[in-house]
Amino acid sequence: MKPIIGITTFCEDKPKKTYSSVSYNYIKSVHLAGGTPITIPLIKTEEDIQNYLDIVDALLFSGGEDVNPLAYGENPVREVKHTSPERDEYETLLYKEALKRNIPILGICRGTQLINIASGGTLYQDINSQVPNTLGHCPFENPVHNLYHTVNLEADSKLFNIFEAKELKVNSFHHQAVNKIAPNFKATAFSSDGIIEAIEYQGDSFIVCVQWHPEDLTIHHPHFVKLFKALVDEAIRYNKLK
Ligand code: MN
Repeated sequence: MKPIIGITTFCEDKPKKTYSSVSYNYIKSVHLAGGTPITIPLIKTEEDIQNYLDIVDALLFSGGEDVNPLAYGENPVREVKHTSPERDEYETLLYKEALKRNIPILGICRGTQLINIASGGTLYQDINSQVPNTLGHCPFENPVHNLYHTVNLEADSKLFNIFEAKELKVNSFHHQAVNKIAPNFKATAFSSDGIIEAIEYQGDSFIVCVQWHPEDLTIHHPHFVKLFKALVDEAIRYNKLK
């Protein structure tokens, strides 16, 4: 049985119409790992969210806009330019309801940031202006599958067990990062400048969140499929308990 993995999406305004969008690389990576991907449109009524949660065996919170700093009690710095309060609200509700059901979750980039905030943490709104002497984390002109900086994995972590490595080379397309870690979460990967590159839930549910973009690496660097495979394995386990 192939588990169903729900992937969050965003609304993309084009000249004539609004599209429900997400990078196809998420879909491809979930499929490569043995899951059946479905996309979850931005519809934020409680009843629809419960219906989607009835269908899925795991969730992937995808990348995208900055989370509105007002959501964690801050006014924006100048570098925060693109936010979607509607998406923040819908994903926060989806996440909180999924947590109640112990649905396995993978957070990627914005997904990581959203989950940290929804759980009570905060962000650096802009690494370059708020944290001195960091590495580059946002080389927008790089191809998305280029490995760019290293991350060190904490030995006692799900990520370490998944990759069986202390160090990974990853891509990096984020100008924000976790600042205060949410209660019940632990930082499990760091770049050499101390920026948090992954957090994991410390309770019973599988919630692993990374700051890089593994979905853009699974073709050129196939060991990144392992992360999606871990989500699929957890989804199979969750489905048996449903
Ligand atoms: Mn980075």
